[in-house]
Amino acid sequence: MKPAKLNDTQYLPWHPESWINYRLIQQPEYPNQSHLFESLHILNSAETLVTEEEILLNRHYISEAAKGNIFVLQAGDCAETFDSCQYGDVIQRVTHLQDLSEIIQNILKKPVVTIGRIAGQYAKPRSEEFEIQNGFELPSYRGDIINNIEFKKNKRVPEPKRLLEAFENSKLTLNWIRKYFHENNIAFKNSRFFTSHEALLLNYESCLTRKSKISDNWFNYGAHYLWLGERTRDLNSAHIEYLRGISNPIGIKIGPKSNAQELIDIIKILNPNHIPGKINLITRIGANKVCDVLTKIIVSVNKAKTPVTWSCDPMHGNSFKTQNGIKTRDFESIFKELMDTYSLHNELGSILAGIHLELTHLNVTECLGGQKSNVTENNLLLNYQTYCDPRLNKEQSLELIHKFAKKIN
Ligand code: PEP
Ligand code: MN
Repeated sequence: MKPAKLNDTQYLPWHPESWINYRLIQQPEYPNQSHLFESLHILNSAETLVTEEEILLNRHYISEAAKGNIFVLQAGDCAETFDSCQYGDVIQRVTHLQDLSEIIQNILKKPVVTIGRIAGQYAKPRSEEFEIQNGFELPSYRGDIINNIEFKKNKRVPEPKRLLEAFENSKLTLNWIRKYFHENNIAFKNSRFFTSHEALLLNYESCLTRKSKISDNWFNYGAHYLWLGERTRDLNSAHIEYLRGISNPIGIKIGPKSNAQELIDIIKILNPNHIPGKINLITRIGANKVCDVLTKIIVSVNKAKTPVTWSCDPMHGNSFKTQNGIKTRDFESIFKELMDTYSLHNELGSILAGIHLELTHLNVTECLGGQKSNVTENNLLLNYQTYCDPRLNKEQSLELIHKFAKKIN
């Protein structure tokens, strides 16, 4: 393994697979390497799903958001599933996101750019290697691109053919989204709708990474926007090495243990030329800690004089397990982190330009609270469907967005 210190990474040449020399975590161990290479070989020549123009337009909107001219709504499922890759389902997800954006747009009287966690959000980082149910232990579910959620030994084995299925499903999803806008007489570019997923599975991401035909830049053509997760964000990570080479806008998740100086070093690596709209910092601290932790981070980043666009993910810092062991989040904590983050930015002279939510158009009972839904610990299992983290349901997400936009207006 090569040393990957800041100074070294600046000088080592990048290519779509240079991450192989860096600290690599959260990757599946495929039992059959030749099947893996077959899948990767096919993906290497697979068609592109998004265009360079769209990616740069998304980046431009994110840069405008940093100035307060646009608001960013990034949202969708924690883990998108292959089962939900159906025309009706995709359109319902997209229309719900567009409805939420329209609410913000009407209240704030500024355009909203919608970045779906959609058309490829199939890989999940896991805090626990194993999952225990009724005394039995199996490897964790890692997203449909890797293994099957069913709690059976053979279903949890990583399968390389899922890489191809994920690609085909992403392609179908994106085609349906394009068709939907087309049928509603909205040019895709005017929809201000973009796709995103976590850049987790680096084998997959590097296959979809190609050099531009019109410039010297590299792009990931599998999604408009990619993000760096909290668990793969250390300075020596293979994930940072991969992401530093692409020109797509990049989200960086920032958890409660983040170190301000390390974050600034990461931003320097990912955006050495200070391109506006390139870096979207997504803070996900937790309602109880946000004031303590975020102040230092905001002050340091503001001092660093490099352009960033700030978003708040009020979901991931507020997860907890109920007494019955069910993973959930409470509407009030989610709203509190959002408002406290907004106020902190105001005090410190930066702008909260976007929010990042896990939500669904379905009437699920995964998060607690909400005035209309009023989900309680007792009825949490009535319609608990998520494959990974708990999502706000339709009413909860409408309520949160409405309440938030009204407050900051
Ligand atoms: C996620 O967005 O689903 C996720 C795993 O987030 P984080 O990396 O912030 O924990
Ligand atoms: Mn999640």
